Amino acid sequence: MYDLIIKNVFVVQPGNEGSFHADIAISNGKIEAITPFIPADQARQLYDGNGQLAFPGLVDAHMHTGIYNPLAEDALTESRAAASGGVTSSLNYMRTGKYYLNKTGSYANFYPEVLDISSNRFYVDYTYHIAPIQYSHIEEIELLLEKWGVTSFKIFMFYGNYGLHGNSAAQKDFLMTPEGEFYDYAHFEFIMRGVTRVMEKYPEKADSISLGLHCETAEIMRAYTRLVQEEGKLTGLRAYSAARPPHSEGLAIFIASYLANETACKNINLLHLTSAKAVDAAMMMQHVFPHINFKREVTLAHLILDYDCACGVHAKVNPPIRCRGDVEYLWKHLLAGNIDWVCSDHACCKAEIKTDLADKKNVWLAKSGFGGTELLLSGLYTEGIRRGLSVNRIAELLSTNPAKRFGLHSKGQLSEKYDGDVVLFDPTQIFTVDSKDSESTQGYSVFEGHTFQGKVTATFLRGQLIFENGKVLGEPKGNYLHRPY
Ligand SMILES: [Zn+2]
Repeated sequence: MYDLIIKNVFVVQPGNEGSFHADIAISNGKIEAITPFIPADQARQLYDGNGQLAFPGLVDAHMHTGIYNPLAEDALTESRAAASGGVTSSLNYMRTGKYYLNKTGSYANFYPEVLDISSNRFYVDYTYHIAPIQYSHIEEIELLLEKWGVTSFKIFMFYGNYGLHGNSAAQKDFLMTPEGEFYDYAHFEFIMRGVTRVMEKYPEKADSISLGLHCETAEIMRAYTRLVQEEGKLTGLRAYSAARPPHSEGLAIFIASYLANETACKNINLLHLTSAKAVDAAMMMQHVFPHINFKREVTLAHLILDYDCACGVHAKVNPPIRCRGDVEYLWKHLLAGNIDWVCSDHACCKAEIKTDLADKKNVWLAKSGFGGTELLLSGLYTEGIRRGLSVNRIAELLSTNPAKRFGLHSKGQLSEKYDGDVVLFDPTQIFTVDSKDSESTQGYSVFEGHTFQGKVTATFLRGQLIFENGKVLGEPKGNYLHRPY
């Protein structure tokens, strides 16, 4: 007897061509069989898939739960949004300093608190990528790996000199680093050496260990922000893009890649590439350093929005939303197979704090970041299918590739022995994005008013139905993902 049979679906697998008609049997949270017909009397529970597409549960590789709202609150509401979009694994960036828990200190003290707050509050499985901020954090990389199964680390290349929203002074105050320490290139080098050390010490885990970088250059941004503001000709998203120009991304990618080679840090994730210059720089570095296993990430927003989009300042994000030419360039490389995964960069920044209430159109006063995890599959499907992207590649980009990279070895595929994370998707449903329909507490969507084709109708997490027909079901059942998983 199986626990559950999801009957009558078209299964989407990575590497295949198209989908095939089958039933999916799940027991003890794991997929036990996927075959064209499994008799109904072999399961305690049946679910009629109604001929819809079945995708592997999404792995949203880049989220920021608890950045603008208390972690306890964000975990509940934003993981509901994730579940409603078919996301079953939520990977969140976490660091010490302002925002998040708004405190500093060792990860030995900080991380158990993060885990404690997170416990029983996620509707989907979850884990964290950790950013070593202080010098002493580098020595804690091994502890994070060994004790808590953290295999992915992050560097925010511009934070030392620029801040989260641009124009913010007092970076010491922002990152809360000890006197005499600098969050600079030298620190990044030593973080890479720290990551290399644990990869060498734990060779059996090395493939699951990686370092991600937010690639922008503080010095270039500071100078261009001043130029754009003094000139005063541009406003809104156009001004913000000009203030953080694409070559600031390209230069940062060169520096990051050089340091990765210097430190033999071989698994490097170039996060949220936004522009032609960034993608070109990333491809050049792959050519120069073929022994480095680079992965290249883009966000859904950068694949859909350009700087003239209707949502305006609400789409302020780092790196910025770019011109239409850059959007199309990302697609060209995504279709060519040069982009490894698509994420949301979900950061729930509520309407009332997103913009300055007295000056709502002022991009300089607005905060950076927004949500959107709930629209990952619908958004990529809508834009991708009309450009010739296959459903199989969509599964790779949203599930299989990030799962492999981040050490989630039984996530990201619909195959026997994998977790029973299944998304049912009706490609015939057409809907207009309305933030009122979202589980997120953000209160607006950067995709507001966009027409998307294809909707998630049900999400199964390890064989449990957690979302169905617009409703998140039951209590939070997400597990912490100790990696390699
Ligand atoms: Zn981010």
